Amino acid sequence: MRLLIAEDDAIIADGLYRTLRGNGYAVDRAANGVDADTALMANTYDLLILDLGLPKLSGLEVLKRLRARGSVLPVLILTALDGTSDRVRGLDLGADDYMVKPFELPELEARVRALTRRSSGTVPMVQCGALSYDQVGRSAILNGQVLDLSARELGLLEVLLSRSGRLVSKDQLVDHLCGWGEEVSHNAIEVYVHRLRKKLEPGGVRIATVRGLGYCLEKPQEIRNT
Ligand code: CA
Repeated sequence: MRLLIAEDDAIIADGLYRTLRGNGYAVDRAANGVDADTALMANTYDLLILDLGLPKLSGLEVLKRLRARGSVLPVLILTALDGTSDRVRGLDLGADDYMVKPFELPELEARVRALTRRSSGTVPMVQCGALSYDQVGRSAILNGQVLDLSARELGLLEVLLSRSGRLVSKDQLVDHLCGWGEEVSHNAIEVYVHRLRKKLEPGGVRIATVRGLGYCLEKPQEIRNT
């Protein structure tokens, strides 16, 4: 999952960035409306967190342009306490949710989970053989045990699960796991895959390597009635 934070207040942006990175999301940042607009045209995101009071181009204008391009990207707007009319306009322009500053980070995390879940249009529980993945609580259960996964491993598992049975290239993984300025090599991806693979192995859930191309989370063999 890749998110964009458009926020010019460095303290708020840093807090959001650290929290969401810690949750295993790939996060990009834009400190003004023009950069946000450019990033939205250049990249594919799963969620936009948009401050309305942005320099160069207002958050409302960024949102208006995004929707004018036909994008259905979920948008969570951040507004000042006294910005009621802006909030209403934002919702009218197609924002999906809003939060009033100052806000509590756990509440923001919950809303981000809800919005990204809605965007992927998926059921709360995903199953792959002996593995169950709870998309609401973002926890993986294997053979009845909750798996202890790092943020990177969790992000990796989500990407592989969302495309289970299909090939995912290393470049796609880097795209989904890393924000701008984060140097993550293909070698590092191999390490994350290796660690996740070891944790999934006891349940017979396999991540196959497709030489030179990428990885594939294998769908469990269907039982044939012959
Ligand atoms: Ca601002």
